[in-house]
Amino acid sequence: MIYKFVNFPIIIEVKSGVLEEFEKVVHQNNLHFANPLIITGKKSGEIINRYQFASEYQHYIIQDGKLEEISYLRKMLVDYQHDAIITCGGGRIIDIGKYLARETLIPVVSVPTLLSNDAIASPISILRINNEYKSVGTTMPIGVIVDIEVIKSSPKKYILAGLGDLISNISASYDWVLAHRDIGEKIDNFSRMLAYMPAINLLNNFEIYSSLKDEKFIEDLAYGLILSGIAMNIAHSSRPASGSEHNISHALDRILGFSRIPHGLQVGFATILTTYLQGQTREHRQILELYEKFKFPKTLKEIGVDRESLREALNIAPTIRDRYTILNKYQPEKIVKIADNLII
Ligand SMILES: [Zn+2]
Repeated sequence: MIYKFVNFPIIIEVKSGVLEEFEKVVHQNNLHFANPLIITGKKSGEIINRYQFASEYQHYIIQDGKLEEISYLRKMLVDYQHDAIITCGGGRIIDIGKYLARETLIPVVSVPTLLSNDAIASPISILRINNEYKSVGTTMPIGVIVDIEVIKSSPKKYILAGLGDLISNISASYDWVLAHRDIGEKIDNFSRMLAYMPAINLLNNFEIYSSLKDEKFIEDLAYGLILSGIAMNIAHSSRPASGSEHNISHALDRILGFSRIPHGLQVGFATILTTYLQGQTREHRQILELYEKFKFPKTLKEIGVDRESLREALNIAPTIRDRYTILNKYQPEKIVKIADNLII
């Protein structure tokens, strides 16, 4: 018999106060770390230092995250015979942790202090190489531990970014089906559904959440982003969670520079346009209502993009990478015209 085998993290924990019992959670999953290395950023280091487990393990604070520092860390992990990497922070720090895990074959546990994108459990890292940001394949974490209390006290814009990155799966899923239909691209409906279902579910039920800091909302968002990461691992591609809206975001990054605003805000913003182009009328309307409720940035001004740069981005987006999407179905001038009317 032939089946597909799926890798996913041994530990998946999303709850309030889970970091208070970090070691217990690890042991309950039949794991034991004798000599782990905690890596954090400056701010996430301060957050993690409040917890007991942080005082027991060696702790390294990332400075610039450039290649030299990553090489230094790689050597340190091997020389000191660390048996686990506990990577705590936002996407950038988690990406470094995952990359180091690939390089050293030491398992990594992801402990996000921000819920700003699906990097928390994805097999892809964005790294700063020679002052450019490059996407590289990595191993997926063996554990993802999200403390709802920590996320609750993080800045709202990062939670919104996580929301945008999750909602963008609705656009990405459509594009994948389109590519399968139009050009015969191979599709994996299991991984597509794994990324799509939590997104559409959240969209269909957003009235139940009282606010961005609603614990149930944070929980659902965290699981949605974790499942997106696992979906990418199964598909061996970012396809389940990255379509035309990510193309537009990549184009804006190329024109205006990387890291201006959190990635999730930009892709969530582009999803307004792509769901419209896709004719996902009901979803498009619901997304606007959801964004209105949570004050998600919907205008050029709020997202920090000028009209000309958006037009330019829409012209290069269809060909920015080899990924067939709804953008390939329109003339670029037509897309610009629609965006001029739709986006204020
Ligand atoms: Zn993304």
